[in-house]
Amino acid sequence: MQSLRELFRIGPGPSSSHTIAPTLAAESFKRRIADKGGDRIEVTLYGSLALTGQGHGTESAIRGVFAGNNIIFKRDLSSNIPHANYLCFSLYSGDKLLDQAHYTSVGGGELRSEEDPTVNAKEVYPFHTFEEIKTFMKEHGEKDLVAFGLRFEDVREHLSRCLDTMFATVERGLNKEGAICVCANERLRTERVAKKMFEKAQSLEDSDAKTEMLISAYAYAVAEENATGGEIVTAPTGGSAGVLPAALYFLYKNKGINKEILVGSLYVAGVFGNIIKQNATIAGSVGGCQAEIGAASAMAAAALAYVDGLSLYQQEYAAECALEHFLGLTCDPVDGYVVVPCIERNGIGALRAYNAFLYAKHIAPLRKNLVSFDNVVSAMKMTGDSLPTAYKETAIGGLADVLKDTNRGTC
Ligand code: SF4
Repeated sequence: MQSLRELFRIGPGPSSSHTIAPTLAAESFKRRIADKGGDRIEVTLYGSLALTGQGHGTESAIRGVFAGNNIIFKRDLSSNIPHANYLCFSLYSGDKLLDQAHYTSVGGGELRSEEDPTVNAKEVYPFHTFEEIKTFMKEHGEKDLVAFGLRFEDVREHLSRCLDTMFATVERGLNKEGAICVCANERLRTERVAKKMFEKAQSLEDSDAKTEMLISAYAYAVAEENATGGEIVTAPTGGSAGVLPAALYFLYKNKGINKEILVGSLYVAGVFGNIIKQNATIAGSVGGCQAEIGAASAMAAAALAYVDGLSLYQQEYAAECALEHFLGLTCDPVDGYVVVPCIERNGIGALRAYNAFLYAKHIAPLRKNLVSFDNVVSAMKMTGDSLPTAYKETAIGGLADVLKDTNRGTC
């Protein structure tokens, strides 16, 4: 498995695969061609990047990298591509091709390229499954993932920075009001509600309702920031960036948990996220929203279980339970923007993480879970592989189809 630095990345919303990774690809290609001259750069977007790239800010992110250059965008919707998120940069001088590199945006901001191997992430953990990790820990008499801490010291500082960024994003989102107006045709105008949700939560007397509304408000705060291009941490993606911070911020602000413990919980969340990434996918364009919100919810549930002092078995139960009940969730962003259903879905994802944590705490000790975390990741991959393309970040199926002709108001 790769370093947690590859999983948790700090960058701009709204989409890690459509914004952060294409930005990194553009920066890498820019370095390659620094002394090659040329009069224009052609950027070809394929698959999901071609279909939802505009709504996800792909073109503007790439233009930002090549500011001052002559850039021409092309879209290619042919199905004969190696991955749903694929792009190519070509440097020309007149008709002469000076350089070219293809990149795959595999999800969560990660890139792969045969022609530009500098972008390829290295494998640093010798494990592939949770079963392997558990077996290794058992052999070494270790019960705590963080104390076991394989390479934890390598990433502690990075995780600490990610935690601070997550909290800053929550707080920024909680302090903003006004319209989220991201679509060119102004059809998707909606109001930011995180601040109002937070105020509402404060006024609630029912402590259960208060807890759920606070967690939801924190998730909305980040998701609204993400939708408008604000800085987020991929957890594991931009679209699902609100779920894990909501859980951690709740623990920090409302339960008084210190940051050192929360950095440990981020590590635990990362281990589960990495297993999903390694054995299935964290990209909505490959596996549907189960791969984004489902994965984020599993990570948050494991983090909540870890902070509560639950056993490794219960942390696994929490992550498994959260992911299991998102199996089959489709990715259908209306008009290709990470607004509907994504913002609300972050709130629900955070609440399901909290529910899964409660199940892990109170039900897991009663009987053995028949489904392991590795089992549910396999089921998620199988389900994602058989989902029709219309439900994988193409904005042509589901809600994106049902809402495509409605007029929801103007900005
Ligand atoms: S529907 Fe889910 S997977 Fe698709 S863009 Fe929104 S958050 Fe990401």
